[in-house]
Amino acid sequence: MPQPSPPPRSEPREIAELRRLKDENPDLQSAVDLQIELLQVQRRVQSRVALPSIKLEPDHLNGLLAAGPILQFEHLKIDWSDLRFLLRATAAAMRTHEALEERDFQRADAICRDGARLPEIVRAWFEAGRKPASGAPPADAETTGLEPVLQQAMRPILTRAADAIMARTDLSGWQQGRCPLCGGEPDFAVITPAADRLLICGRCSARWRFHQFTCPFCMNGDRSRITSFASRDGQYRLYACDVCERYLKAYDARRASRPVMPAVDSVATIPLDAAAIQKGYR
Ligand SMILES: [Zn+2]
Ligand SMILES: [Zn+2]
Repeated sequence: MPQPSPPPRSEPREIAELRRLKDENPDLQSAVDLQIELLQVQRRVQSRVALPSIKLEPDHLNGLLAAGPILQFEHLKIDWSDLRFLLRATAAAMRTHEALEERDFQRADAICRDGARLPEIVRAWFEAGRKPASGAPPADAETTGLEPVLQQAMRPILTRAADAIMARTDLSGWQQGRCPLCGGEPDFAVITPAADRLLICGRCSARWRFHQFTCPFCMNGDRSRITSFASRDGQYRLYACDVCERYLKAYDARRASRPVMPAVDSVATIPLDAAAIQKGYR
């Protein structure tokens, strides 16, 4: 039997894992193809994103953290032509895979064209995500519906800043459900071999330790009002809150052969999303 050709050496492990996921789950083909395209778009920009304009010194960063999430919009060094490329390419990929309505695709395009307004719009999106989680995302007419596009497009810029800050900051005292770096919400989690749960920010990918069963969205800590179940293969776990009706998925690294990869694991768990939504969670 001919073996499938190995992926090119330069291909990152996430993309190789996504290809394998698609081979094993043909139903996920479109979602996998979209995720691969998004990663490739982000990789084109990633290596040249500048460090944030913040003093990367532990005492300074720990001092800022005492007052709330560290990263301010002003700290981000955004190359606006790179961001326009990221926004356009993200919107086009999402449109191709029917993850974005035509109307929203046109709106994303219009935002890219309006060079004067783009910084204002990106700032509004960033600031809206910094507000404490209230269960409902704040409504901002201009960015409503475009959050997934902005989130993907801003990812190389935010992860660059987060990586630099996280390496020099002591996050062990942070007990909030929102990100200690950018203030965003977690969109995935990992259960470590020591059975700690780390939340992973949906915007900047920062990770922080959080109580095993408390809901990070509404801080409900009543264990009897958290529904938790594992995927059939035991690789993933889902925590759903009966107070705010939101849920969070986690990768169980206690029984895993590789580390968590949110870009892969968020796609691999699409069937869990369907199960949660069917039970009335969102
Ligand atoms: Zn973050
Ligand atoms: Zn909740």
